[in-house]
Amino acid sequence: MKAAKNYQFWFCTGSQDLYGDECLAHVAEHSQIIVEALNKSGMLPFEVVWKPTLITNELIRRTFQEANTDENCAGVITWMHTFSPAKSWILGLQEYRKPLLHLHTQYNREIPYDTIDMDFMNENQAAHGDREYGHIFTRMHIERKVIMGFWEDEEVQARIGSWMRTAVGTMESSHIRVCRIADNMRNVAVTEGDKVEAQIKFGWEVDAYPVNEIAACVKEVKQADIDTLVEEYYSKYQILLEERDPEEFRKHVAVQAGIEIGFERFLEEKNYQAVVTHFGDLGSLQQLPGLAIQRLMEKGYGFGGEGDWKTAAMVRVMKIMTQGMRNAKGTSFMEDYTYNLVPGKEGVLESHMLEVCPTIAEGPIAIKCQPLSMGDREDPARLVFTSKEGHGVAASLIDLGNRFRLILNDVDCKKTEKPMPKLPVATNFWVPQPNLQIGAEAWIYAGGAHHTAFSYDLTSEQMCDWADAMGIESVVIDNNTEIRSFRNELKWNSMYYK
Ligand code: MN
Repeated sequence: MKAAKNYQFWFCTGSQDLYGDECLAHVAEHSQIIVEALNKSGMLPFEVVWKPTLITNELIRRTFQEANTDENCAGVITWMHTFSPAKSWILGLQEYRKPLLHLHTQYNREIPYDTIDMDFMNENQAAHGDREYGHIFTRMHIERKVIMGFWEDEEVQARIGSWMRTAVGTMESSHIRVCRIADNMRNVAVTEGDKVEAQIKFGWEVDAYPVNEIAACVKEVKQADIDTLVEEYYSKYQILLEERDPEEFRKHVAVQAGIEIGFERFLEEKNYQAVVTHFGDLGSLQQLPGLAIQRLMEKGYGFGGEGDWKTAAMVRVMKIMTQGMRNAKGTSFMEDYTYNLVPGKEGVLESHMLEVCPTIAEGPIAIKCQPLSMGDREDPARLVFTSKEGHGVAASLIDLGNRFRLILNDVDCKKTEKPMPKLPVATNFWVPQPNLQIGAEAWIYAGGAHHTAFSYDLTSEQMCDWADAMGIESVVIDNNTEIRSFRNELKWNSMYYK
């Protein structure tokens, strides 16, 4: 699986020549110091590149055009050190097509009470200049992120870092290609959608293949390669035979190893970064891909069950956004399965038929072989584990017929009260914010699916910013959600996005 590019972000400072060369020299010096500090902070996942101060219409326009064509540039960070008349920015911004951060900061933290004079005020007037600059975005309906605060503060740097990840998710979205192995599950509504519109809005290419084409690729995998991978499985995971014959068990596991290798070759060769399967359409595959899909998700592939290509693409988007993150806790395809309704212990047991990504696991990971109640193939081998505790975000992208809506729920993951020894699948257990009742009611009013793309490592703010960049509606269910205003929000949104 190829990693996303080693992106950079340009840092462009706005000013004008009204205050003389000395002032402009200070502006350039200050912005270089800020860029250096940001790069040294260790808070940013990508490098910031300093650019010469923008003072004229012509230079602004040329810089944005260069940013558009520079393949490594994933976005521009702008800041008005002094006053920069915003009409100078109109043409450049009109032509600019990448993510933009308006960093509203100031070089000095404190007002220099003893020495401040009018020259200082004119030189350090971001409070003034950034308002003029911000106005033109609002006037022109241009999407941007605004972050306010002192550039040396860790919180500000962390927010810039988070925005960078969203920007990379925005840039990389149009490079996602989803491979559909079989169609959407018959009669299911929420996993359906307009693939042409998805390509227009998100840049996703969504293609279908007859299942036997990929099954042929699985059949071609050499026994020696399968044996090596099975060895890896046996050394890495616990083996829970549960009274099955060890030889027979190993054969079942080997089928998944063949699927993992065959699928990965097929996807690599055809340049797909996400895949869907369907238990009801397996062609000549011997087992529903379980362990194999779990391992592919761990490698960074997006996945959706039962033909759910929208969730598969979202899982891939979210995996890209968290790529290379230190201490990442994981990102997975997920499904709301069953509730605990005991007062004070409410929550949703999350799982899937088989396909939960092991990046979210905590503790030992085991292989089990169990029959599936659905489908008509051999008992598939799968990885079984429980998941980490902590905050996460669950995302559901739905097609409302005339538009897409991204529904986000902040959730708090917990350990289940007791182990579930008879359950042959990986699980997570979470409490939707603000609580199960309001969270589930709001989710259902919004039309959210049972499938989600879930991550411990992203926030609803990042996901909303991504949705804004894509030009689609997003709604957040979190500790501030209250049903009456949430229902009104859905109604108002239906007017806005008409
Ligand atoms: Mn499902």
